[in-house]
Amino acid sequence: MKLLITGGAGFIGSALIRYLLEYTDYTIINVDKLTYAGNLSSLKSVDKSERYHFYKIDICDREPIQQVFQEYEPDAVIHLAAESHVDRSIDGPAPFIQSNIIGTYTLLEVALEYWNKINNKLNFRFHHVSTDEVYGDVDITKPSIEKSPYFPSSPYSASKSSSDHLVNAWYKTYGLPTVISNCSNNYGPYQFPEKLIPLTILNAIEGKIVPVYGDGENIRDWIYVEDHVQALHKVLREGVIGETYNISSNEIKKNIEVVYSIFEILEELQIPKPESLESFHELIDHVQDRPGHDRCYCMDSTKIRNELNWQPVQSFASGLRKTIEWYISNRNWYEATMNGRKYNQQRPGFLKV
Ligand code: NAD
Repeated sequence: MKLLITGGAGFIGSALIRYLLEYTDYTIINVDKLTYAGNLSSLKSVDKSERYHFYKIDICDREPIQQVFQEYEPDAVIHLAAESHVDRSIDGPAPFIQSNIIGTYTLLEVALEYWNKINNKLNFRFHHVSTDEVYGDVDITKPSIEKSPYFPSSPYSASKSSSDHLVNAWYKTYGLPTVISNCSNNYGPYQFPEKLIPLTILNAIEGKIVPVYGDGENIRDWIYVEDHVQALHKVLREGVIGETYNISSNEIKKNIEVVYSIFEILEELQIPKPESLESFHELIDHVQDRPGHDRCYCMDSTKIRNELNWQPVQSFASGLRKTIEWYISNRNWYEATMNGRKYNQQRPGFLKV
């Protein structure tokens, strides 16, 4: 298997590449633009492998992508490259429209042109990685299923919805063998420290304010990144062409509960707090809510569990503990990743240099 992965220097893409190089004999071609979120040091443990090839390419640039297809003749594509942070999409939607919509369109065009020329058409597939945010705000008693309508609220989720529609259109109109997976909120090692879990861990251990949007009652469905990666591998190998698979762990938590759980584990691990603090809880700052902030995402993932026999390994408690331990022992990684950026406490995703 020669597998072209886009966005492989990001959080989920790098976890996928580390996993596949360790547990399969695939050749991996990683195409990534290396935005602020792309970090090749996340791949240090595998980048000497003869089965790993990296190209710094923007997926919106058709020619270099065509050259990669010509040179490697991949058996499949897993497309993860995207702008991924909702807060940034509110402050500046343009790169989201460009990378997530135009980038996906460009990749589909190149993949289709390539697929039309190859002999073994049945074996090729284009796997598009998407999010539960496309379904919009849901009632917790009615988790989204694969056939639920799309109601995106943020520029990020609107751009991901658009890319999902494009992928489906390239399947229905041109016959390109595609499959889509929509996953819930990921957490784990190597996540850029602007998202809730790594931001809370790092700010707490450094004694900095921990911003929580509004009342902290927003609900998300959390999945450990390695569980997502194993689901992606299942969908790649066994997913039915033209189908969509929801991926979630059914670990449904309010944001404030996530923050409390992190503090609890830090206490158990006896991580020292600044002398002025009696409890990590004093660090919480309820900042003005994010505009268009959906109250609840939760998905029904029965389809992938029943049809592809996938299930997550980590509970939220075990995955969170592993994540916290990783951040504590990998200070070098996140200090290099932050590269002098400072948090704007009011909008955690907007990092001023
Ligand atoms: P990330 O921001 O950590 O990584 C994205 C990667 O894509 C980076 O390495 C970046 O350099 C690269 N990239 C961005 N624009 C590019 C372009 N134009 N050309 C080439 N490379 C480009 O994101 P992530 O959290 O790893 O998410 C990966 C994918 O999974 C995204 O498509 C995201 O929408 C989806 N997803 C993420 C989550 C989550 O909780 N993180 C949940 C569901 C789905």
